Amino acid sequence: MIWDKEKECIEREELAQLQLEKLQSTIHRVYRNVPFYRRIFDKYGIDPDSFGSIEDINKIPFTTKNDLRENYPYGLFAVPLREVVRIHTSSGTTGMPIVVGYTKNDLKIWTELVARVLSAGGITKDDVIQIAFNYGLFTGAFGFHYGAEKIGASVIPVSIENPKKQIKILQDYRTTAIISTPSYALLIANTLIEMDINPNSLSLRFGLFGAEPWSERMRQEIEEKLKITATDNYGLSEIMGPGVAGECLEKKGLHIQEDHFFFEIIDPQTLEPVKEGETGELVITTLSKEAFPVLRFRTGDLTRFLPGECPCGRTFRRIDRIMGRTDDMIIIRGMKIFPSQIEAILYEIEGKQPNYQIILERHSGADHMNILLEMSEDIFSDVMREQTQLLNTIKERIASEFGLSVNVKLVEKHSIEKIGEKIKRVIDKR
Ligand SMILES: [Zn+2]
Repeated sequence: MIWDKEKECIEREELAQLQLEKLQSTIHRVYRNVPFYRRIFDKYGIDPDSFGSIEDINKIPFTTKNDLRENYPYGLFAVPLREVVRIHTSSGTTGMPIVVGYTKNDLKIWTELVARVLSAGGITKDDVIQIAFNYGLFTGAFGFHYGAEKIGASVIPVSIENPKKQIKILQDYRTTAIISTPSYALLIANTLIEMDINPNSLSLRFGLFGAEPWSERMRQEIEEKLKITATDNYGLSEIMGPGVAGECLEKKGLHIQEDHFFFEIIDPQTLEPVKEGETGELVITTLSKEAFPVLRFRTGDLTRFLPGECPCGRTFRRIDRIMGRTDDMIIIRGMKIFPSQIEAILYEIEGKQPNYQIILERHSGADHMNILLEMSEDIFSDVMREQTQLLNTIKERIASEFGLSVNVKLVEKHSIEKIGEKIKRVIDKR
């Protein structure tokens, strides 16, 4: 039996009514209990009783990450601390972390929603699940942990360990499913190859990956190297953690959990809704959260609604894989380009995950894009003529896809500066 699937097959009309009722009660809760939201409602003259349809949500201003930060640590909690049974924080790569709380009921719903995502990704009670997310304040590990237990699977809370230890556990404990970031899965896969272990000797069948943007090409690489079915999932601590959206085994976009969240996609410049199917910034309103409800939260994540119904039968709409962050969106000569689109081209040409950085400059009024690409061993060993050929292929591909002429430069391995574990993808010097 597929976990909970009936609940994901609600008629659209019934869903709209459910969303409206939940929105009304969320609005009353924040107006009563969260001074930040009460001030906003009073300032803009918004009557909490005036929400007659879900579209009325447009009256409410957006909540930004900054709003959450400014209320550190407990300013946005809508219940007293004695009703909070769990506290997490957002990973916060920049600035102050955002502290989020959960009531007992919040944890129950979180667990259910993660169980749905796991089930959609092929997991059943017969699975042995290795969780290779960092346990701690980060929501990823705990979210999946409780969801997997709810399904009845056997959970191995490995956390982050060196890849060889992960592989020993994969082998000895006969793990059937792994949960991690896609880049960590790839690290394990490459270590497996280095250790000369045949992936077919493992029991691994499924991988659920999230917490960072990844490409279709990377999915194929992980699936081939680990001999698994890999699905994408999405969540964020500010909203709940994992369980906000996840792919089914059709692997054609992530179903969004519309009975507990309301989703919008806006143009990050104009803040207006994008046209049907266009890419923009994902905005989420929580509809069931008690301890930490948020209204129209600007996630900073770029995606689009996918049209049509999914063959799997779930009626919840789907979003496309996350294409990157709004901060990374490049506007050059009137065009919007996402680093992930450049990355997909580099990946395809180079045949592996590229380390790169995009630098934007302005000379005599004209904008230019320079791409720094770190040399891998393969490129390094190539003769000069082949390097030149590689650079030309990249330039031609970008020119044909975007009508944009760019400079591409090969740089030494590890020479692009990292912030923590991550390379800053775009440096705008204009
Ligand atoms: Zn589906």
